Amino acid sequence: MPFRTRYTGLIERYRDRLPVHDDTRIISLGEGNTPLIRLNNIPRQLEKDVDIYVKYEGLNPTGSFKDRGMTMAVTKAVEEGSKAIICASTGNTSAAAAAYAARAGITAFVLIPDGKIAMGKLAQAMMHGAVTIQIKGNFDDGMRLVKDVASHAPVTIVNSINPYRLQGQKTASFEIVEELGHAPDYHCLPVGNAGNITAHWIGYREYSCTTADKVTEACAYCNGKCKFAGGAVTGKQPVMVGYQASGSAPFLRGGPVEDPDTVATAIRIGNPQSWHQAWKVKEESGGWFDECTDEEILAAQKLLAQQEGVFCEPASATSLAGAMRDVKSGKIPEGSSIVCTLTGNGLKDPDTAIQQSTSPVLTIDAELDEVKRAILNNME
Ligand SMILES: *Cc1c(COP(=O)(O)O)cnc(C)c1O
Repeated sequence: MPFRTRYTGLIERYRDRLPVHDDTRIISLGEGNTPLIRLNNIPRQLEKDVDIYVKYEGLNPTGSFKDRGMTMAVTKAVEEGSKAIICASTGNTSAAAAAYAARAGITAFVLIPDGKIAMGKLAQAMMHGAVTIQIKGNFDDGMRLVKDVASHAPVTIVNSINPYRLQGQKTASFEIVEELGHAPDYHCLPVGNAGNITAHWIGYREYSCTTADKVTEACAYCNGKCKFAGGAVTGKQPVMVGYQASGSAPFLRGGPVEDPDTVATAIRIGNPQSWHQAWKVKEESGGWFDECTDEEILAAQKLLAQQEGVFCEPASATSLAGAMRDVKSGKIPEGSSIVCTLTGNGLKDPDTAIQQSTSPVLTIDAELDEVKRAILNNME
């Protein structure tokens, strides 16, 4: 085997653990392999002895974890002869679908909620040449329409109800286990449709079940068939914790939410498509669901940007907002290692960032004295 230094995406990297054939044409933009950043300042401020890592999924090619699922979904759609893909989206799925369709040379149709999508995401869908359909309704309406139309037209759905999406997304857990040498004690995620929390659990399960001496109890996801052949991992699995925004928290309300509303538009979802899977993940991992207010979400987004230099979009900060609260209360005990998934890049939603920023922007004359004064007046 030649020594390969060029990273060519997660399908190539985890080929033996994904449903692809030797001759499958891989549609990739080099997604995955994202940084796992250990937080320095925030744990110190919490005055708790915990290790918090953020998995910065905003550094994927289109700026969110959706690329992990989309490389698989589009690769399989093309393999199956599909000429068009379709999705409903709060923004990031449409951005990823548009980009991977462009790469594959097929058409993407994206249904987005009229006016409720962050500007960066809309720009991406348009720039990559997707057919953008704004609907006078929310994500849940779009999802219903996509399911209906796909049974009447030759298009492949690439929402997370497409099982290949979760297969691609499970690789985030592989990367985390490989990087830490073991699974973390807790894994915290924002929850919208709940596909990603499900995918992460599949990833952790596959990793640990195949490294056990033998697969005694066939894992519900792979039935003991996955081909992963060991590595420096223990059989440990994390407790999975999912946080929803208070204005769109169906898991906390016990049923679908009619008019979901939150500043975290990526999780503005009232009727999660992976409802049952996510509850199974919670049961199996001994985890829990909780909610965060918009204020908590925005405060965590800002804290992360200002204290750690990491800029994520509002929905992503929900994982950290919830984790910080549970660390403070002791629900997540001291001594724990915690991974928070930062699902999307802060640049996706510049409007929200600028609106809530309190950092000074000074306007001065183009004179040396004025610059000097601005510096001296603003030294810490
Ligand atoms: C899609 C998305 C989510 C929600 O993920 P689900 O799999 O729907 O639970 C969270 N944050 C961002 C930035 C997203 O794009």
